Amino acid sequence: MHAFICRTCGVQYPPSEEPPASCLICEDERQYVGRGGQQWTTLEQLRAGDVSNQVVPTDPGVTSIFTVPRFAIGQRAILVQTEGGNLLWDCVSYIDDETIEAINSLGGVQGISVSHPHFYAAVGAWSEAFGAPVYLPSADREYFVRTDIDVTWYEGTHELWPGLTLVQTGGHFEGSAVLHWAGGAEGRGALFTGDSISTAADTRWVTFMRSYPNFIPLPPASVKGIVASLDGYEFDRIYGGWFGNDVREDARAVVERSAERYVRWSGG
Ligand SMILES: [Zn+2]
Ligand SMILES: [Zn+2]
Repeated sequence: MHAFICRTCGVQYPPSEEPPASCLICEDERQYVGRGGQQWTTLEQLRAGDVSNQVVPTDPGVTSIFTVPRFAIGQRAILVQTEGGNLLWDCVSYIDDETIEAINSLGGVQGISVSHPHFYAAVGAWSEAFGAPVYLPSADREYFVRTDIDVTWYEGTHELWPGLTLVQTGGHFEGSAVLHWAGGAEGRGALFTGDSISTAADTRWVTFMRSYPNFIPLPPASVKGIVASLDGYEFDRIYGGWFGNDVREDARAVVERSAERYVRWSGG
């Protein structure tokens, strides 16, 4: 039995004798099946190859974890160290003993949450490695293929511990979410956004899409809904889904003016 991993989106399926017939995530209109057709690998195969994880201190309490050479979508996971505990935000497909050791030296993982199905990656393997509970929005339950692992499902918002809150923004997926850390950015507040709010190449701006690879926009009402979901949360910094492309300051104003521009150009 192997827990097969889709090579295009990086999502790991429950252990089975044969690979799944197709990948639920890649068959969705927001993703795509690779040009060579559906391909699978396993953690064992990846460990026998040349991939490894980079564990990179990014800011106080913020550590980025990503796989090199890039695998599948190439997103990063982020270990957020807070007084209440360490949360792994988003996930990557690869994990090995070196990664586990590096993260244990930072205090391990007390909880895992993922912004949306494209970044589910090997959340089952990560949860098992650290004995960490998984928190996900119930709105995307149909896309969570690891039906063999326990998940705490939430709706709307979920406070993990004081100052650390999951906020369902909707948009990209109905259950798309961000993580708000009140103590982030030296106490000015930080958001961790995955694809729910995507940092642009020009980091004075962010954007919002139903599909990034297939260029499907969101309707104006949905973009306004994302901004409205953040009412009452202070934040000055945004950590996006990929390493090295963060909005370092003034992030609330960046989100608001980006939403206004988006709505204007979409005719709303
Ligand atoms: Zn896939
Ligand atoms: Zn996505």
